[in-house]
Amino acid sequence: DDEGGGVEDYLFKIVIIGDSAVGKSNLLSRYARNEFNPHSKATIGVEFQTQTMEIDGKEVKAQIWDTAGQERFRAVTSAYYRGASGALIVYDISRRTTFDSVGHWLDELKTHSDATVARMLVGNKCDLENIRDVSVEDGKSLAEAEGLFFMETSALDSTNVNKAFEEVIREIYTNVS
Ligand code: GDP
Ligand code: MG
Repeated sequence: DDEGGGVEDYLFKIVIIGDSAVGKSNLLSRYARNEFNPHSKATIGVEFQTQTMEIDGKEVKAQIWDTAGQERFRAVTSAYYRGASGALIVYDISRRTTFDSVGHWLDELKTHSDATVARMLVGNKCDLENIRDVSVEDGKSLAEAEGLFFMETSALDSTNVNKAFEEVIREIYTNVS
């Protein structure tokens, strides 16, 4: 890498998948804009947000895609997955059914993206400890069995949100550099 040759740019596409209302849109708005919306309805409008981080002195851009509510029909289009090099598969720790759907979302991801995609299992809403319905151990063991990274997050109180995205971005960077 030549000195003074300017900043080397990387652009990675990351997709967020998982059942309706697990907090996908709020994870993205927390990460990209440090915003949380307690009343968010199905996402409308914005397809993706871009965040930049520095790794090894390089500028790495992550283009993070959010569904527009199609996940209600348990399927998002192949265009959504096209070119993705990372994925967050999100469930809600207070709703077991959303954890039971993870296998379905992993199958979708496998169908539509290539095998090297960096995958993070995310148990969101960890602020709802009092109504927890999925143990940390269950999350961990599923992640281990499927070869995924794992993290519990809260888009509400910000726990691990940046960390989850940044770990995926770092992993993709490691894969390509
Ligand atoms: P999406 O359908 O997966 O995009 O989910 P949304 O981001 O629209 O969130 C669905 C609902 O869950 C909204 O009412 C959010 O305010 C709420 N929510 C999202 N993340 C969290 C979280 O970390 N903790 C709590 N307590 N609520 C959350
Ligand atoms: Mg949404």
